[in-house]
Amino acid sequence: MSGCEVVLLMGPPGAGKGTQATRLAKERALKKLSTGDILRANVAAGTELGCRASSIMDVGELVPDDLIVAMVRNELESMESLRVLLDGFPRTPGQADALDAILAEHGISLGAVLLLEVEDEELVRRLLLRAREQGRSDDTEEVIRERMRVYRRDTEPLIKYYRGGGKFHRVDGNGDIDEIHRRIEGILS
Ligand code: ADP
Repeated sequence: MSGCEVVLLMGPPGAGKGTQATRLAKERALKKLSTGDILRANVAAGTELGCRASSIMDVGELVPDDLIVAMVRNELESMESLRVLLDGFPRTPGQADALDAILAEHGISLGAVLLLEVEDEELVRRLLLRAREQGRSDDTEEVIRERMRVYRRDTEPLIKYYRGGGKFHRVDGNGDIDEIHRRIEGILS
């Protein structure tokens, strides 16, 4: 498959993945694939997946791997060329294995793995601000703290998984949006 590029954006809740993913996707002509956004669209539309996911998301836990992997596989297989920016996936070692398998089936490898890093207190501050602005049902302080615990427990171990491959980059997620964007561009260019 030619012209493929798969970039992975990782980081704790509130690190700014969604914001950076939107800009980066536009500039590099990648499709942004955000599992959180797809799940929320399913919840809003009342699909079977949405019904199964909504109570899990509301308490800040992770939706089971099999549901997430099937959802991502569907999205990837509906694309004409695999130029994609993954935001919020993979989030567990099982999801990372599944992604490897999907990419291997298509004969492509990961382009880059970016980890946005921000201190915990700043994360909570940003998420509480977003709660006031957007009213997301999982942006209450209690659920935010749980999402951060789940990130440390289930997702952070993925750093070890990706670190050795020479494609892994830490990005300082503090500062303004443009500054962080420039850091990412500096890495990818
Ligand atoms: P955040 O990164 O701020 O937690 P997301 O929009 O990425 O926000 O995710 C919101 C919720 O959706 C998560 O708390 C989880 O319940 C669910 N979710 C999103 N992506 C995944 C995933 N890859 N695996 C399991 N659950 C997911």
